[in-house]
Amino acid sequence: MNGRTPFVAANWKMHKTVAEAEAFAAALLPRVSDAEGVDVAVCPSFLALGAIVDSTRGSRVRVLAQNMHYEASGAFTGEVSPPMLAELGVNGVILGHSERREHFAETDRALELKMPAALAAGLLPVLCVGETEEERERGDTERKLRHQVQEDLSQVDSAQLGDVVIAYEPIWAIGTGLVATAEQAQEAIAFVRALVGDRAPEQAERVRILYGGSVNPDNAAELLALPDVDGALVGGASLEAESFAAIVAAAGRR
Ligand code: PEP
Repeated sequence: MNGRTPFVAANWKMHKTVAEAEAFAAALLPRVSDAEGVDVAVCPSFLALGAIVDSTRGSRVRVLAQNMHYEASGAFTGEVSPPMLAELGVNGVILGHSERREHFAETDRALELKMPAALAAGLLPVLCVGETEEERERGDTERKLRHQVQEDLSQVDSAQLGDVVIAYEPIWAIGTGLVATAEQAQEAIAFVRALVGDRAPEQAERVRILYGGSVNPDNAAELLALPDVDGALVGGASLEAESFAAIVAAAGRR
């Protein structure tokens, strides 16, 4: 036992209207009500956040946004700020997902500011890092992870490093059906933990590091049993309550 509570989060991306998100919550809550010892979260679109905060109130399910700006307010058309999320009762936020880095020019420089801004607003930040297929083939996986982890966490106080969640998501495994092998996932996640340990050894023992990339009910148990894997960030398999609940159950058995 390492003392870290497993964390399983559903990243719905640009799926589910408000009505669909509410129907999902109604189907999920009874299925995870006895998932003792697992932190469960759903990450709806901005538009569904308020409705899902309401429909999950009093349950074990936490609600996370999929992005935010680092400023509290300002002339940033189309953006949403940390206090706006906190006011709604949102518990946290995914930051630096590879789809935001790739399609919306999310930079490590912005993430440097977003990470402490989330913590200051009382939001749990889930920082996504990971290499492309090309980077893995070139032998650059560790270089990429080192760069992202060091830069994106550079403005987080060392004493607070254990309060963030990091999701190792190899880009070649996201939405592709290709899953990292147990060895690849364990090796990369242990490396990320060691990077945190370079700054604060005791925080490395606390920080939760998830695996993400084509996790499903069939492969979850093996991945979640790995010593350094503290949970999963789930895309495709989180869109159905039954398959997401099966992954949550696998985390509870680890
Ligand atoms: C994700 O987008 O964070 C993800 C892990 O997606 P999928 O599970 O579909 O690979």
